[in-house]
Amino acid sequence: MKGKTALYPGTFDPVTNGHVDIVRRAARIFDRVIVAVAKGQHKSPFLTIEQRRQLVKEACDGIEGVEVVSFDTLLVEEFRRRKVDVVIRGLRAVSDFEYELMIALMNRKLNPEFETVFLMPSEQYIYLHSSLVKEIYQLGGEIGCLVPASVPKRLKEWGIK
Ligand code: ADP
Repeated sequence: MKGKTALYPGTFDPVTNGHVDIVRRAARIFDRVIVAVAKGQHKSPFLTIEQRRQLVKEACDGIEGVEVVSFDTLLVEEFRRRKVDVVIRGLRAVSDFEYELMIALMNRKLNPEFETVFLMPSEQYIYLHSSLVKEIYQLGGEIGCLVPASVPKRLKEWGIK
């Protein structure tokens, strides 16, 4: 969409192929896509915000019109501050729907201008969750087919168990 900017927020702990699929779809629709890594302290992420941001940045390298930032405020605040047009959220199975609807409507209550656009990933990513990736990794499983190539490489390099 000409001149339109989308903000794609998430915890990205860690970024998966499903997230990247959504970024690619968003980048085909919007002129600019800002992927915003949330501090998400209440979720006790296993990676630091800086590590998550770096992994997202490497995963999105080469996708035109995409930039990666981090934030630690309310999403409505980031929406207002960056003057974006819409917020992107990914919808996987029906299980995502109720939670995402609640968040979208609450954000609209906080700011009537807040608009959420839902994008569906390719069906191979429907059951791909960061939390599962994390569990597989921590139990010594192979995550190479679930995440961008730089993720296992960096986790090893950073000595993350
Ligand atoms: P959050 O804590 O904000 O839910 P996540 O990193 O888990 O952070 O997810 C960020 C966004 O990406 C959410 O909208 C989520 O539904 C979406 N998402 C996560 N995994 C996938 C996937 N495999 N396919 C499509 N969308 C996904």
